Amino acid sequence: MNSGNAVNGEFARQEPWMREPTIPPKGNAPMNIVEIRNLTKNYPLGNTTVHALRGIDMDIPKGSLMSVVGPSGSGKTTLLNIIGCVDNATTGSVKVHDQEVTALSDRQLTNLRLNRIGFIFQTFNLVPVLTALENVEFPLLLQGGRSTSEVRAKARKLLAEVGLGDHEKHKPAELSGGQRQRVAIARALVTDPDLVLADEPTANLDSETGESILQLMQKMNDEFGTTFIFSTHDAQVLRYAKSVVRIHDGRLVEGS
Ligand code: ADP
Ligand code: MG
Repeated sequence: MNSGNAVNGEFARQEPWMREPTIPPKGNAPMNIVEIRNLTKNYPLGNTTVHALRGIDMDIPKGSLMSVVGPSGSGKTTLLNIIGCVDNATTGSVKVHDQEVTALSDRQLTNLRLNRIGFIFQTFNLVPVLTALENVEFPLLLQGGRSTSEVRAKARKLLAEVGLGDHEKHKPAELSGGQRQRVAIARALVTDPDLVLADEPTANLDSETGESILQLMQKMNDEFGTTFIFSTHDAQVLRYAKSVVRIHDGRLVEGS
């Protein structure tokens, strides 16, 4: 036995806290998947400034199924866009997966978005020249590392899960609003992201389709611990949320 071990053993017996490494080992998941401190977002508008977010502080634990609720114009989309790294903060700190996103390069942000985050936009953002199936395959192809048949099979499975198994070959223009929304949902979930952001995900769906989409998300949340953050007005969506935060005029409402 060398003296180094003896010293460590001594510490371990006398001071248990000394065994704790100062830096957590790699791969140790942070408890909060999102941490926001004093976030503000201003948009210049003509000669004035729109204060869309006026100082947001929030911690979102891993595995949340959380809804952001607030009236139109309160800042829901702005908040989700900043968490999803598709827009940047004016001031403040935003940590996603323990990374300070305000300090990342465009390339690093793209990687974070592609590999760790699924985003369901209010306006779908589907690629018009691609079929429904190709739209869902798209993020898998960008990620690389999978065979064509593997990509196809994974995309097919997701499209079937959102009830569009028989619309694989349709282009977005040939689908209804609700069907486009479901393609967007399949595309956001196909990479198995650990964080999914959904801006008013059921706004364009009939209640039955909305219900099935929410059940799919709940299942992913239960089975894989996928974190979901929704914005909504919809009582149906609220029922599925495990936690709710309220936003008004760019600020979180106390007690929410
Ligand atoms: P919500 O999603 O809750 O309806 P938003 O986040 O879209 O709210 O908008 C918050 C505020 O920021 C609103 O006053 C809106 O008009 C304003 N806003 C959002 N995007 C822009 C933009 N690109 N330029 C100027 N103002 C914007
Ligand atoms: Mg919005």
